[in-house]
Amino acid sequence: MAFASRLSCGPLGRLLKFIIHRDTVLLHQVRRKRSIYLVPIGTETGSGSPEGRLRVAKYDVAIIGSGPGGYVAAIRAGELGLKTIVVEKDPFLGGTCLHVGCIPTKVLLHHADVYDHFKNGAELGFEISGLKINWPNILTRKDKIVKKHAKGIEFLFKKNKVEWVQGWGRYEGPGRVSVEKDGKKTQIDAANILLVSGSEARALPGIEPDHKTILTNRSILELPEIPKTLIVVGAGAVGVEFASIYNSFGTQVTILEALPRVVPVEDEEISAELDKTFRKKNINIFTQAMVNSVKKDAKGVTVTFKDKDGKSQTLQAEKLLLAVGRKPMTDNCGLEKSKAKVERGAVHVGPYMETAEKGLYAIGDIVFGLPLLAHAAMMEGISAVTHIAGKPAPPIVKERIPNATYCEPQIGSIGLTEKQARDAGHAVKTGKFPFVGNSKATILGNHGGFIKVVSDEKYGEVLGIHIIGPLATEILAEAAAVLHLEGTVDDMMNMMHAHPTVWEGMGDAFASVRGLQINV
Ligand SMILES: Cc1cc2nc3c(=O)[nH]c(=O)nc-3n(C[C@H](O)[C@H](O)[C@H](O)COP(=O)(O)OP(=O)(O)OC[C@H]3O[C@@H](n4cnc5c(N)ncnc54)[C@H](O)[C@@H]3O)c2cc1C
Repeated sequence: MAFASRLSCGPLGRLLKFIIHRDTVLLHQVRRKRSIYLVPIGTETGSGSPEGRLRVAKYDVAIIGSGPGGYVAAIRAGELGLKTIVVEKDPFLGGTCLHVGCIPTKVLLHHADVYDHFKNGAELGFEISGLKINWPNILTRKDKIVKKHAKGIEFLFKKNKVEWVQGWGRYEGPGRVSVEKDGKKTQIDAANILLVSGSEARALPGIEPDHKTILTNRSILELPEIPKTLIVVGAGAVGVEFASIYNSFGTQVTILEALPRVVPVEDEEISAELDKTFRKKNINIFTQAMVNSVKKDAKGVTVTFKDKDGKSQTLQAEKLLLAVGRKPMTDNCGLEKSKAKVERGAVHVGPYMETAEKGLYAIGDIVFGLPLLAHAAMMEGISAVTHIAGKPAPPIVKERIPNATYCEPQIGSIGLTEKQARDAGHAVKTGKFPFVGNSKATILGNHGGFIKVVSDEKYGEVLGIHIIGPLATEILAEAAAVLHLEGTVDDMMNMMHAHPTVWEGMGDAFASVRGLQINV
């Protein structure tokens, strides 16, 4: 075990891994070679326009859904020379991430950040008066950015000869997808089918969103004005990002979280730091809070919940956001016609995202056991189509999927938390570097938080990295590279980091595992 662990980190281990990987790839290419040769039938097919004419055609790949999993898979498939078609129910491309998820929320978070800078202008030596939020202008900018990037995907589809049609896509058995639009049904023949239908917001039993007062991640993006008070139910990534946005814009925010801590999937120390910082910003937080009822009234909502001591409490607010997780959208997608294993709506996959039904792949938010993240969906799509093309495909390793949460302070993490590493039987050694010792963080006026490194004591293998503080979602890049390349604490503490950067805090964090940090 120890030998294997050392091998996996050292140069010998890397050579061994390369040889195994190369041989697996060669074997795999020989196996796949014949199955990818397909002749498209039908000369013209619908393309580009939502009304696109669709004829029966033969494709190498048909993709249901144009979110980050679907559109990235389609573009890569086009690049690899596979004849590809995407079926999208909406009249635009991009899915949840582009239209109501990653992108619009990050636009609002950026605006909130700029506003925070203006509010704190005096600290930087500026005298600012007459500062006002023009909310409609902010929403217009958000919509412009979303539209620009949706058009960008259309452009990339054309560039890579990817066709797309609008309609409801359904798996109809091996090699067949039906597309339904305006009561008309057409069929696509494709050797391989990728189901990438995404997810939607979960509701709580008995609490239905009306999208005016009780909101989801979609309707909160369309509020005509900034609410004075907001209750956020759920302190996962979506909940804390919206809490952060509206807190910056002056809303009195209260978070109700059923679990014992905010951002419950993160390392415990990260949760504690976020909790502390949010409370300092005047965000109210109730953990272990069980919501019993939500009643709408003239003023907004009244929420009754049981607090962690079992006492019943009541809160009022103008608006309530339900951010209690997402559920896979696999209903009515034809999975019952396949051998794919489906559990609570999510699809089990094997290597390269193939389901138990040969030629049927599941990607993105509908996949069982993988995180619901855009970049995970993207790489899963790449893995599937690369496999289909018979080329060396990147395997999806759950522990190497980075998490980025863009609240203020930002959180970036990857790999095992300290507890997960201990529970997995590792002899754990941690290191921690607080941003207070980082000069660039001080220049930015943002030096709260820390970088925590979780490593295996014996060989210094990096098992996890957990960052909370300035630019955490950007300096996470180094953490992802270390885990991807299976680097050690010693490799990383000896790597030169540019000065002055927030990023150089990573060097100090790795060195702190060995007690050799410089700046603290
Ligand atoms: C508020 C919010 C913020 C987020 N922020 C981030 C972030 O910052 N970073 C990050 O990594 N992740 C973020 N996520 C998660 C991210 O949006 C998802 O993980 C990602 O969109 C999943 O991609 P996907 O391709 O699986 O599905 P989706 O993006 O949901 O796309 C699925 C597509 O399939 C279409 N479709 C569904 N069924 C059919 C059908 N039968 N026929 C035809 N078309 C169909 C849908 O219309 C949709 O276009 C956020 C999510 C939310 C809600």
